[in-house]
Amino acid sequence: MEIKELKGLAVANSIKEQIVSKVKRLKANGVNPCVAILRVGDNPDDMAYENGATKRMAGMEIDVKHITLDGDISEENCLDAIEKLNRDETVHGVLILMPLPKHIREDAVRKALSPEKDIDGITSANMARLFMQREGMVPCTPKGVVELLKYYEIPLQGKRVLIIGRSLIVGKPLALMLLNENATVTIAHSRTENLSKLSSEFDIVVCAIGKARFLTKEFVKDGAVIIDVGINPTPDGGITGDVEYETVSKKASAITPVPGGVGSVTTTILAKQLVETCERQYLK
Ligand code: NAD
Repeated sequence: MEIKELKGLAVANSIKEQIVSKVKRLKANGVNPCVAILRVGDNPDDMAYENGATKRMAGMEIDVKHITLDGDISEENCLDAIEKLNRDETVHGVLILMPLPKHIREDAVRKALSPEKDIDGITSANMARLFMQREGMVPCTPKGVVELLKYYEIPLQGKRVLIIGRSLIVGKPLALMLLNENATVTIAHSRTENLSKLSSEFDIVVCAIGKARFLTKEFVKDGAVIIDVGINPTPDGGITGDVEYETVSKKASAITPVPGGVGSVTTTILAKQLVETCERQYLK
């Protein structure tokens, strides 16, 4: 059986073309799309993500404004910074790097952000739109998973998909997005019993748990499609996924690598949602 490696860059590049032409049109109409990236503290993972996102945006002629707050900033001052971005007419979308330091309530931050600038789909208004199957901005990582599956023409309609992980930014929104694609969705999590047996019954498995090389070949049915969302640091300064790639790829029909898989699509989705919110505000 030939294994298909589902690389993210090809997906990102296919979406990039549409974004670049939308940015040109917006600029011709006097709108200069700009995303603000708000970072609290200097966590190296956040800084690496911010650098990657900045480069990707630059490649699409999108401006980036960096808001960097001290790690010990008060919640009140952090919320003030978000309010300021809500009012800033030169900023069209805001990405808040999470997780935030423990003394800042993520719920308060979600409430403070204007849904019109919420290009990562973290506000309850945008989550409700996803729940109700209305147009809106959605969390970028699960959207990237759906775009990747579609790009590689992996059928979803009527297919049984297992999502391992039920977080608010990956597992739960992905379940809704795949339901909207008419897949039959099951969610597993840390309390699921007998996960390897359950998992080995599915044609498509998405793993998003944050545990390096957790999903071994025992979890996988022959010919399954495996999507690895995990990003876990390795001792040599690199990253690895939630899937034991070397063994699982021998059984799977298709698999995403880490790095170079889902993670390569995420910031392009962010840019897509940024230009779409600009279009909704200025071109209609
Ligand atoms: P999280 O910690 O918020 O949630 C983890 C989920 O995994 C929980 O729902 C938990 O129930 C489940 N889980 C944990 N251990 C489990 C186990 N042994 N068996 C079954 N389920 C288990 O994590 P998250 O924010 O959803 O991120 C998950 C992973 O995805 C992380 O590695 C993160 O770095 C990565 N991530 C990648 C991207 C990307 O762009 N590729 C974006 C966001 C997150």
